Amino acid sequence: MSTQLHPTRNPPLDPVPALLRLVATIHEDAELDVALQRLCATVAELLGVERVSVRLLDETRCRLLVAARSGPLVRAHPSVEFGVGEGLVGWVVGNQQLLRLENAECDPRYVQKSGQLAAFGSFLGVPVLDEQGCIGVLSTMSPRTPPFDQQDEDRVRLAVGMMERSLQVGRLRRLMTLDPLTSAYNRRALEQIVPGVGDSAPLSAVMLDLDHFKSINDRHGHATGDIVLRRVVDLLHGQLRKEDRVLRMGGEEFLIILPGAPLAAAAAVTERARQGIDAAEFAPGVHVTVSAGVAARRPGESRDAFVGRADQACYRAKSSGRNLIVIDET
Ligand code: GH3
Ligand code: MG
Ligand code: MG
Repeated sequence: MSTQLHPTRNPPLDPVPALLRLVATIHEDAELDVALQRLCATVAELLGVERVSVRLLDETRCRLLVAARSGPLVRAHPSVEFGVGEGLVGWVVGNQQLLRLENAECDPRYVQKSGQLAAFGSFLGVPVLDEQGCIGVLSTMSPRTPPFDQQDEDRVRLAVGMMERSLQVGRLRRLMTLDPLTSAYNRRALEQIVPGVGDSAPLSAVMLDLDHFKSINDRHGHATGDIVLRRVVDLLHGQLRKEDRVLRMGGEEFLIILPGAPLAAAAAVTERARQGIDAAEFAPGVHVTVSAGVAARRPGESRDAFVGRADQACYRAKSSGRNLIVIDET
């Protein structure tokens, strides 16, 4: 029996069918997540690889977010994993240049991330550009042979180039609905996330407000306050499913939308989030609590009335002593 130490990569001889399917995505004017997903899948097919990811830059062009990968999406909400200049992917963005390496682990720019599941092997990173510079990066790696060559490079450049305009537009649309501090959605996203009138499908809303947050700023400074806001959003995402959405409605007030969740399930997840935030230390000696109101949508109820009931329940949580949740059972 022979052991194959380096399984081979078998890119298709003819790239045209896969590229034509990508053209169809452009014509469909697909949502950003769909467009990113299809681009990843196309590149995976064109190169005969498993892992492809694409990341786009936030509005400051300093952080990479909105990740998609070939295979299942890791997270639907915006996630921040790499800074510009950090690691191979960060180098591609920082230098606005393609990078192809035969053996990524031997390169001084390579940074080992904790929790990495597979050996890198060969690496290929291609910048996604607009008129002002770089808006993101597509990257792929393969421990298989042969390492990436000029043909692979050309194929990826073609696929990325075809999708560039769609990704530029999709990214701008997405940025309009994102809060730059926390990467949660902003209130402009509410209309897209919650239909105007309810149907029979369960949908719950949680209004959540940080308690005595002004005193965090007063005692520890505004910068620490900002860290608390970001971490609270991260903690919330840690408790939520990928279909749930967190919106920053105002300074320290967040709305969570839970599609498909009946009242009891929404209450349970909110209580877990409350406890998690209560237990967290945000900076040395910095603790915060939250008050929250939970409501489930009634059939035919308007968006404003539904969110208003979660808001009213949050007020009741405040007036009942804070650091607790109130469930609107009406
Ligand atoms: P309560 O328990 O009644 O909610 O009290 P509170 O202090 O949390 O509420 P209040 O509405 O009085 O104050 C909210 C504070 O949130 C005031 C404001 O300085 C702060 N804030 C709003 N936006 C930001 C922000 O982006 N960063 C920081 N650090 N603070 C913010
Ligand atoms: Mg508050
Ligand atoms: Mg408030």
